[in-house]
Amino acid sequence: MTDKPRNIPRVTNLRESLVQREAEICLIQQTLSEVLTDLDLKTVLDKVASRARELVNAETLLIPILSDEQDFYTYRAGAGPRVNDIIGETMPINFGVCGWVFKNKKPWWQGALEELSEDERNRWEREAGTLILVPLQGKDRMLGGISAINKRGSSDFTRRDFNLLKMFAGIVSIAIENAMTVQRLEHTNKLNEDYRRRLKILNKQLVESNKELEFHSLYDPLTSLPNRSLFRDRLTQCITQAHAARRKVGLLLIDLERFKDINDTFGHEKGDALLKLIAALFEKHTEADQTIARLGSDEYAVILPETDRDDTMKKAYKLLEAMETPFRIDGKSINVRVTIGACVFPEHGRNVTELLSHADFAMRMARNTKMGTALYDPAKDRSPMGHLTMVADLRRAVQNEEFELFYQPQMDMRTKKITSLEALGRWYNGHYGFVRPDLFINELEQSGLIEKYTTWAIRTALAKAVELNNKHGDLKISVNISVSDLMSPHFIKHLGEIVGSQTYGRLLTIEITENLFLSEYDKLFEVLEYMRYLGITLSIDDFGTGYSSLSRLKKLPVSELKIDQSFVRDMRRYKNDEVIVRSTIDLAHNLDLQVVAEGVEDNKTLKKLASLGCDVAQGYVISEPLSSEEINHFMDGKPVSRTG
Ligand code: C2E
Ligand code: MG
Ligand code: MG
Repeated sequence: MTDKPRNIPRVTNLRESLVQREAEICLIQQTLSEVLTDLDLKTVLDKVASRARELVNAETLLIPILSDEQDFYTYRAGAGPRVNDIIGETMPINFGVCGWVFKNKKPWWQGALEELSEDERNRWEREAGTLILVPLQGKDRMLGGISAINKRGSSDFTRRDFNLLKMFAGIVSIAIENAMTVQRLEHTNKLNEDYRRRLKILNKQLVESNKELEFHSLYDPLTSLPNRSLFRDRLTQCITQAHAARRKVGLLLIDLERFKDINDTFGHEKGDALLKLIAALFEKHTEADQTIARLGSDEYAVILPETDRDDTMKKAYKLLEAMETPFRIDGKSINVRVTIGACVFPEHGRNVTELLSHADFAMRMARNTKMGTALYDPAKDRSPMGHLTMVADLRRAVQNEEFELFYQPQMDMRTKKITSLEALGRWYNGHYGFVRPDLFINELEQSGLIEKYTTWAIRTALAKAVELNNKHGDLKISVNISVSDLMSPHFIKHLGEIVGSQTYGRLLTIEITENLFLSEYDKLFEVLEYMRYLGITLSIDDFGTGYSSLSRLKKLPVSELKIDQSFVRDMRRYKNDEVIVRSTIDLAHNLDLQVVAEGVEDNKTLKKLASLGCDVAQGYVISEPLSSEEINHFMDGKPVSRTG
């Protein structure tokens, strides 16, 4: 019995404790089912805070969460009267109870805070009576803690409270860690997305500024045309391609005349507007594969890939013609004159520097002659670069007979039959490609190699004449010879050896340019007489360009006269020139000379020449100069696929 009164309260205690336990388990289970399904960290922490407060009957409950680097903690959630003041506050790790727990990795369950000095406590810990703080342990790291401050009522926290909170923390930390991971992932994703978006913007900006940079480094900002640097690039590219395909590239250098005066008179703004208009005009006249560039303030250039010198010059004339129309700026009419220098790869230069320098030389030639445009003429260029470094190559070429003769048919106007061919020298060189004779002949003359070349040319042409005569009957071949040949004391001897007899001589015409007769007349006369003796026909080439008169020619043993192609060409352009051609033909006929018209390019001119009584025609309308093999096809009436 004595035990009974003691037992009753015990039983009551036990029941109470069982009921309490039941309630605690229920609370923990409820919390778990709530937080484990929730992935939003804030919601999870709020729930954990209020459930934990209930669990240990705390006045205030706070949840500090550690920073990723574990050097700070922030009160992320809480429950109790003044928590809103505290939530969001961040403390360094070495401060307060939290700091102590995190540092020592041990829970704090002491009712009092004696272990921490006044300075080490944070502001509410200073006011707190009792406090327990249990860590929230994640899989690999400490996440934070649950801190219960002051038991409600007058009692202190018990060890049971402490153990209960530890168990509770152990269970909910899984849910907290999950929610933290999700939040971190979302954050990273957002960061990723942000990063990607910013990267995209940055990239776009980069591309744009690159484009702008490229534009400024390659294009002229005023006219938007390629600048000098892009121009050099394009020309180099064209040269490389043309070299591989054995093609030609034309280059035009265009200079505006007295542009400074225009600028001074009308002002820089108008000057700029004019430069733009000129650029637009040039652009209108250039094809897609051609490049028009602005090289300097009043200097433009055009690159013509896949062309030849005739087409290059045609383009130059076209541009000159286009510039004849005055420009209109602010109602004012402004005339701009241009000078165009032209040259062609490979015959006038092998690289950008040579070509530019030669186009520039041609431009100066054009300016001096007031012709508007000129094609580079190496014979007139005495600069070291103009005097191409060809001599060594030519010496070897003469030695090895690397030259080739092309043949251009001449047609009898009355019978429409091919009665003769003009042999035109070609030199193919790895560096220069096909080199036209007017370039290398001059060099051969200068370097004393011409005689050897001419004897080779006559021998080769004669052999071809014999070959073709066997097949096609009566066919002559003309060979061009130069002044130095006629002046050489050995020439007659060599000619005699090659031609040998009159049978062969009759197959040969020798073309001499008109200017030969200006001097040394007596000496020449003897040589020409000997040629006539050998049966060779003598022809005056490029008639009309020199200074000799027909009456003087009358005294020479000459039987043919070739009207220079410039007259034939001009006859097409200007009606008046027809008169010159007509009178030349008439006078020549009076002197018993046969007349050949050179450079006949179209049927209209051909007809006109026939009506004027011209005997023979030569020119592209009949055929371009053809290689030895091609001329065989031509004479056989077969199609010729490639021209020389
Ligand atoms: P050339 O004797 O007056 O030859 C005619 C030139 O006109 C050739 O140029 C020919 O290709 C070109 N031609 C022919 N038909 C037409 C046409 O319809 N339109 C145009 N625009 N041109 C045409 P190429 O072959 O360049 O010869 C240039 C000059 O070089 C020749 O003028 C001749 O004086 C000289 N030459 C050529 N071969 C030799 C040679 O073996 N020895 C010497 N000494 N001079 C040569
Ligand atoms: Mg000729
Ligand atoms: Mg000629």
